[in-house]
Amino acid sequence: MGFSTDAIHAGQSPDPATGAIVVPIYQTSTFVQEGLGKHRGYEYARSHNPTRSALESNIAALELGSHGIAFSSGMAAINALLSLFEQGDHIIVSNAIYGGTYRLFEKLLGQFGLSFSWINTSRPSNVEEALQEETKLVFLETPTNPLMTLSDIELISQICHRRDVLVSVDNTFMSPYLQRPLELGADIAIHSTTKFLNGHSDSVGGVLVVKDSVLADKLYFIQKAAGAILGPFDCWLVLRGIKTLAVRMREHEKNGKQVATFLFSDPRVSQVYYPGLENHPQHQLAKKQQHGFGSMISFQPENRDNAPEILKKVCLCSLAESLGGVETLISHPATMSHAALPRQQRERLGITEDLIRISVGIEDVEDIIADLDQAL
Ligand SMILES: *Cc1c(COP(=O)(O)O)cnc(C)c1O
Repeated sequence: MGFSTDAIHAGQSPDPATGAIVVPIYQTSTFVQEGLGKHRGYEYARSHNPTRSALESNIAALELGSHGIAFSSGMAAINALLSLFEQGDHIIVSNAIYGGTYRLFEKLLGQFGLSFSWINTSRPSNVEEALQEETKLVFLETPTNPLMTLSDIELISQICHRRDVLVSVDNTFMSPYLQRPLELGADIAIHSTTKFLNGHSDSVGGVLVVKDSVLADKLYFIQKAAGAILGPFDCWLVLRGIKTLAVRMREHEKNGKQVATFLFSDPRVSQVYYPGLENHPQHQLAKKQQHGFGSMISFQPENRDNAPEILKKVCLCSLAESLGGVETLISHPATMSHAALPRQQRERLGITEDLIRISVGIEDVEDIIADLDQAL
């Protein structure tokens, strides 16, 4: 089936009890058993819940994987992935990624004896050079939050698989509509469902998708053992959001391109980071591994001191953390999504005080551009 058909139908057959076309919210903690060891696949809702199973199958289909595993947030999903490893293991990570991932790895998981190398994965040779005997995972985020740097998923997967190293890709910025890491050779696709998948800014969640049943079993075990599951109501919201993922992403893509073009041609803007622009250093790679460029844009105003004023003056664009919703959100990475990074490191990576990030929504694009124009 095609992507839009899967988005609407995968994992969602009519409810066997009533024929309801929408998977019900199974708001229950337990399931009555017919006798000792006799049940219908559901015992206790931390282990299994039908609404969650529907969502997990649905996202697995969209990411071209075999199994999805849903968690209470994007960070809980990433934490579960890292629970596969043990003291002494080494992990290579794209530098300049989402600040929360940096915080989890460096401030929390480092305490348990995992070690991390933060490198520029946009050059695959850097990954090859950073591989150690103890390396178990290369954790990519592409494009990165907020500077829109890409990593070549296919090439890096080839390098890693020669050494039995897993490759994961945080695919939150693209959604499976625009990029499918498993198809390019990666082992694990990661989403904060909070963003484009749910798309309506009313739920926090996360998911891992894999294509190997041994790896899936290990992750289901972690999900059940550690318990950071996504609740049935949130699963239902994300399922509902995903039904319109394809149409939303087409609008996001259209609006993103127009807003990026407006910013790029405006003399009050000095720098625009958007892989859809021909001057983006990785425009060709974006064309090769993505099915579009999305609607995440970062920029710097010509007058470096103007960023706070611009963020104050916007009206339609809401000043807020998060992204991927139908509403246009604007944010200041240095003090918001990336506040967990030490200032020096932030500046070195290019996440400067004057950097502004926009998640372009699906309002009328003329209104979004008019708002940015008056704010600039
Ligand atoms: C938001 C985000 C996360 C974390 O997800 P939560 O649902 O907020 O826990 C991880 N990665 C990226 C790229 C994100 O944008």
